[in-house]
Amino acid sequence: MAEKKKKIVKTIKIDVDKCNGCRACEVACSAFHAAPKYSSNNPARSRIRLIRDPLSDVYLPVYAGEEAKAECMGRGKYVIDGKEYSECDFCRSACPSRDIFKEPDSGLPLKCDMCEDNPPNEKPLCVQWCLAEALIYEEREEEVEEPEEQVKAEEVEIGLEAMIDKFGLQKVMDTFSRMSASKKG
Ligand code: SF4
Ligand code: SF4
Repeated sequence: MAEKKKKIVKTIKIDVDKCNGCRACEVACSAFHAAPKYSSNNPARSRIRLIRDPLSDVYLPVYAGEEAKAECMGRGKYVIDGKEYSECDFCRSACPSRDIFKEPDSGLPLKCDMCEDNPPNEKPLCVQWCLAEALIYEEREEEVEEPEEQVKAEEVEIGLEAMIDKFGLQKVMDTFSRMSASKKG
């Protein structure tokens, strides 16, 4: 059985009522993840996206989570405080039925990484730049069974699978061979 470990769980609580649709969170996230860092910003590359419908006063920030390989069959609707949302509005996945949470050039899925950096940020960038305080950062300690190394390996596998789907196994292997040869040389 896996050993229990203490882990800091990072959470961003979203207060939808406070969101004014300014999209500063998208700009900050895309700039932080640009290469080189802060060299550009493009909300299409952001790992938080704003679902917005100003005529209905709908502003819903959503964080990118795990990729979904296939689109789901259901299309439920929610009515909250008199505002109507589709089931997809709350979905955190890059999926075949829509463009959000996909790297625009490569089509690779995007996932929120809580702005992991070295040295660590005090708060994720989207939280820092949400002046309306609609995004609230929280940390809590939890006991987990899964070793962190296993989680990291699974994340690498998900990324590799997406690249293989997009470019084909041979192309990915050729690229790795070329990269490893240049690192050795
Ligand atoms: S920065 Fe805050 S207020 Fe602006 S769109 Fe994002 S969540 Fe909403
Ligand atoms: S926590 Fe960081 S990576 Fe996640 S959406 Fe916010 S700015 Fe982007």
